[in-house]
Amino acid sequence: MDHQIILIDMDGPLADFDGTFLKEWKRRYPEEPHIPLRNRREFYPRDDYPKRLRSKVESIYLDQKFYPKIPPVEEGLAAIREMVDLGISVFICTTPLSIYAYCVLEKYQWVEKYLGYGFTKKLILTRDKTLVRGDMLIDDKPEITGIQKPVWEHIIYDFPYNRHITGNRRIVRWKNWRKILGI
Ligand SMILES: [Mg+2]
Repeated sequence: MDHQIILIDMDGPLADFDGTFLKEWKRRYPEEPHIPLRNRREFYPRDDYPKRLRSKVESIYLDQKFYPKIPPVEEGLAAIREMVDLGISVFICTTPLSIYAYCVLEKYQWVEKYLGYGFTKKLILTRDKTLVRGDMLIDDKPEITGIQKPVWEHIIYDFPYNRHITGNRRIVRWKNWRKILGI
């Protein structure tokens, strides 16, 4: 196999951001309605919930110590380790929250905790993933745009809110990643 560069998004494929959001939402605002993951239709939780709840929704993930609560997607970590063993260059490519006060540091700490300090050097934080080169980007965001035409193939990491995208190859709970990567 040719040398490959695989970019992997963090929230969704590797870190259970939406599951943790839902859990925290129900804990903090039990009186408010919640949207189970299977019913999520919008990529951003703030767009899925009624407008009147926007500041409450954002209060969940803008909080310090939100990120450390997020458990890893174990199958994703296992896939990374296997890719690295196969000689693939793996980078985590993630967009920090606009209000970045806590999430930037906490994302680094999260990677160190679950993948080891060495892997913090494989972390790319950017608002524009089209600027990053690689063979594939595994990402749950339905459409990824930026100032460049991306050189990578966008492999969709399956979530209910991206199922309207039908033209891309798709990884479902990491079960079929080897097949997608041609391994
Ligand atoms: Mg994501």
